[in-house]
Amino acid sequence: MLTINDLHVQINETNEEVVKGLDLTIPDGEIHVIMGPNGTGKSTLSQTIMGSDRYSITSGDISMDGNRLNDLATDERARLGIFLAMQYPTEITGIKNVDFIRAAVNAMSTSKNKPSVLQFMQRLESRMDLLDIPEDYTNRYLNEGFSGGEKKRNEILQMMMVEPKLAILDEIDSGLDIDALKVVSKGINAMRSDHFSSLIITHYDRILRYVKPDVVHVMMGGKIVTSGGLELAEQLEQGGYAELRDRLGLDI
Ligand code: ADP
Ligand code: MG
Ligand code: MG
Repeated sequence: MLTINDLHVQINETNEEVVKGLDLTIPDGEIHVIMGPNGTGKSTLSQTIMGSDRYSITSGDISMDGNRLNDLATDERARLGIFLAMQYPTEITGIKNVDFIRAAVNAMSTSKNKPSVLQFMQRLESRMDLLDIPEDYTNRYLNEGFSGGEKKRNEILQMMMVEPKLAILDEIDSGLDIDALKVVSKGINAMRSDHFSSLIITHYDRILRYVKPDVVHVMMGGKIVTSGGLELAEQLEQGGYAELRDRLGLDI
């Protein structure tokens, strides 16, 4: 379970506070969504949970299964089962997709449960099948020359191989056509279990037609201003953030 208490985060480069007293709890087995206007701190929050050195926690706590994350390095957080699909996935020339995924899987495994090359390749192929990823993909360099949709699919493939306890998916639906959106949703739904939870960050309720969330949160002005069910996403799609702002009497 992920627990965030009264979190304040500032950008190191500018000292600007972006996350301003955010509370969030995601129990095991649940899919939560954060919606919110541009520039409200959603990506900052996701990168802070993963331990990016571009941001500093000035007060508050983040913990996973009772382990305080604040001072842990990114790889230690990954070993606790946290995975982040970034809004803008990185391209790395010289590293093949297959080698990157194998390194990520090995980093998460103990020497006992480390898959053999054959087991790894079989798991990879079955997941590539499910995500409609062509065979030649494995030998291509990490995200290099990938379209927006291919990058997002690749992030979902990585997630399915690493099998995290918590997957944070930052705008995994952005720039996807309807077929790619369905494939990405299929990957997320295939992960659903009592031991898996997810935080999906999105601008639109489109993905919520395919992935049914347990809770929808709205983030504005650096904090969660309201939470509810799917109806909240539908209201937002109808009335926009301005209407919600008025209804809640917010001055942000
Ligand atoms: P969102 O994901 O909700 O659109 P972001 O977290 O990306 O919002 O950004 C929140 C605010 O912080 C924006 O004003 C953005 O320009 C600023 N910001 C985020 N990261 C950085 C950074 N590394 N350097 C400078 N400004 C940043
Ligand atoms: Mg944005
Ligand atoms: Mg963002």
